Amino acid sequence: MAETSEIIEIDITKLQPGDHIFTYLLEGVFTHHGIYVGDEMVIHFIPGPTIGNEEFPKSGPCERCQGYNGGSGDGVIMTGKVVKSCLHCFGDKKFLYKYGVSWVEALKSTCCPYQSKSLQEGLETANEKLNTGFGVYDTVKNNSEHFATFCRAGKRYSVQPLIDKFGDKLDAIENIDAGPDEN
Ligand SMILES: [Zn+2]
Repeated sequence: MAETSEIIEIDITKLQPGDHIFTYLLEGVFTHHGIYVGDEMVIHFIPGPTIGNEEFPKSGPCERCQGYNGGSGDGVIMTGKVVKSCLHCFGDKKFLYKYGVSWVEALKSTCCPYQSKSLQEGLETANEKLNTGFGVYDTVKNNSEHFATFCRAGKRYSVQPLIDKFGDKLDAIENIDAGPDEN
C-alpha cells in the first residue's frame, strides 16, 4: 500500500538527521526543499546570489547561519549553490516530504513516488554536495526538490515547478524518469 500524501506541519523536535523537509515560498506559489542535518540546520540548494531574484528573498545572516544568500555577494551572479542554513532561515512552516507514494498521489501533491534510501545515506549525500555543489540551478530542471530527492532517493525528482508555473501537467509527466510498473 502506498502511503497517503497528506501534508502535515512538522514538529521540529521530532526531526531526524536525513529527513527531507520543505517549506512554501511566495505564499505557496512553490515549495523549497532541503535535508535536515541535525542541530537545527538544513542543507539546501538555492540559485545563489542573483540580481533581482524575487523567488528567493534574502533570509540572513542571523545569529545561527549565513542565511540563503550567504550574507554577502550582492551583485554577484552565481548559478547555484548548496548552503547550510538554520531551520528558522529555511522557512516559517516546515513540512515532512514523503517517499513511496503512488504516482497518482505524487502528481497531486508535494511528495515522491520513489522509495527513499536510509536517512543516513541522505545525510551523507547532502554533506557531500555541500562541498561539491549540485550543478547549475534551474527552476524546472534542477531545483531544490531535485537536490533533496537526489540525496534521499538517488533520483532527481520534481513535478511541482512545471505545474505551478505553467499549469501543464503533461509536460511535467514527460520529464519524469521511467517509473515503477506498479503503484
Ligand atoms: Zn539562520
